[in-house]
Amino acid sequence: MSKECNIIHKLTEKLERHSFPFDESNIPLNGIYILFQKGENAHNQDRIVRVGTHTGDNQLRPRLKQHFLNENKDRSIFRKNIGRALLNKNKDPFLQFWELDLTTRKARETYSTQIDSQYQKKIEIDVSKYIQENFSFCVFEVQSKEERLEIEKKIISTVSWCFECKQSADWLGNYSPKKKIIKSGLWLVNELYKTPFDVISIKKLEKLIAD
Ligand SMILES: [Zn+2]
Repeated sequence: MSKECNIIHKLTEKLERHSFPFDESNIPLNGIYILFQKGENAHNQDRIVRVGTHTGDNQLRPRLKQHFLNENKDRSIFRKNIGRALLNKNKDPFLQFWELDLTTRKARETYSTQIDSQYQKKIEIDVSKYIQENFSFCVFEVQSKEERLEIEKKIISTVSWCFECKQSADWLGNYSPKKKIIKSGLWLVNELYKTPFDVISIKKLEKLIAD
C-alpha cells in the first residue's frame, strides 16, 4: 500500500500546515484533519500519525479545539490516548483513574471520592502542553458527513497498511497501553487495516484536495 500512502503524504504537503495556536478562520467548517508529530517521518517528510473528522455539521473547528485545548479527556479519545501513554511512560498509577469515563453525573458521583481531581487537572494540563508543542495538522474541506467518514476510513486503512510508515523508537505511542497504537504507529484504534484506497479511488481524493 505504499504507493497510495505516498500519494496521500504528498497531497498533505500541498496543504497549509497549522500548529497551536491556530487561526480558526483558516479552517473550514466541515472536513478532515490530518495530524503530524515532531520527530516522526515517513516518505521523506512528516509522517501522518492520526486522521480524524466529525459527524455533526460544522464541527471541525470545535473538534480540533477538543483535542488541542479543552481539558476534558472524555470528549477527545485523542487526549485520552496521549494521557494514557504519558502516564504509562511514567509508570503512574493514576492511569487506572484516567481510564474512567466521567461524562455522566452518576459516574462523577460514584468516583468523586476516589479521584484526586487536582491531580487529574494537572494531567489534563500536561496533555494539552504535549499536544500543543508536538502536533501540527492540515485540513481539507469535505461537506457531506458520509463522504467525510468514507475518506477518513480509507486514509486510516491506507496508512495502517503502509510498510514505509513506521514509528520512531522514541515515539510516545510506543508507551501506549493500547496494542493497536503500538502496532499501527498511529494514534488510532478504529478503522485500521480495512479497505484502503486503490488506483481509482485515490484519484478522487487527489481531485478533491487539488480543487
Ligand atoms: Zn506510508
